[in-house]
Amino acid sequence: MKTTYLIFLGGLLTLLLVACGGKDVADNDSEKVQVVTTYSILYDIVKNVGGDQVEVHSMVAIGANPHEYDPLPEDVKKTADADVVFYNGLNLEAGNSWFEKLLGTTGKSGDDAPVFQLSKGVEPMYLTTEGNEGQEDPHAWLDIENGIKYAENARDALIKVDPENKDIYEKNTKEYINNLSDLHKKAKKAFADIPEDERYLITSEGAFKYFSDAYKIKAGYIWEINAENQGSPEQVRQVIDLINEKDINVLFVETSIDPRSMETVSRETGVPIGGEVFTDSLGKPGKEGDTYLGMMKWNIETIAEQIKEHSK
Ligand SMILES: [Zn+2]
Repeated sequence: MKTTYLIFLGGLLTLLLVACGGKDVADNDSEKVQVVTTYSILYDIVKNVGGDQVEVHSMVAIGANPHEYDPLPEDVKKTADADVVFYNGLNLEAGNSWFEKLLGTTGKSGDDAPVFQLSKGVEPMYLTTEGNEGQEDPHAWLDIENGIKYAENARDALIKVDPENKDIYEKNTKEYINNLSDLHKKAKKAFADIPEDERYLITSEGAFKYFSDAYKIKAGYIWEINAENQGSPEQVRQVIDLINEKDINVLFVETSIDPRSMETVSRETGVPIGGEVFTDSLGKPGKEGDTYLGMMKWNIETIAEQIKEHSK
């Protein structure tokens, strides 16, 4: 009888210790800087800079469109509790004003709020199609040199809210920028090797302005920016004219966009879709393109290889 009681007591003690252990881990986590990012690409850049010091919640799901979004109850809670919030800016999170409204409802809209625009310092490019003229094009991250600016901005913001770990953020950022710089150089070389009149990149959304400028490849699209009016007959006709006029031999689709419009263009022109590229989202965890570096590497290789393969 006495032994059973002791075993029971021992069991209880073990349970208690396990429970305490669990709580310790939870406490450590809450000591981390609590970060919210608007979409997956920023999530990955901030993770690379912040490392183990940060816990990051990303709002727009992988594979979804960050131009428009309806925050979930979890997003609202995490944003209200966040030590830092990162967004792209340049007119990205502007559709249905979802981000601005979120900052308002979570008390993060004041001038002193810890909300940082990662594209700060980037030279903006502008939309040109009717009705959009003069608006900033958000897709700056598709030029890796801009991605480097994003990393530096993330570093500076994290140092501001967590100065104790300044050295760690600086070290992480330096290593990360080295890797990004290497890929930027490789990208320039990959496209320089292709004859200029074959360097054409056709996608559904015109997300490649910055990419096009950085890597000297012309970009064409069905619609200029994700909005309500996507893939109208007029837009489809215009891109078909461009494909015929420039004798373009391969098309691309984005992982975060419904491929049906591009499939129509492919059927009508007889030009094949050469592959998928990443624009507004990372790939799924464990798959190709599941980091910013990985998605850029994938894009560069896929585009260069497909153009070469379908060369005249
Ligand atoms: Zn986009």
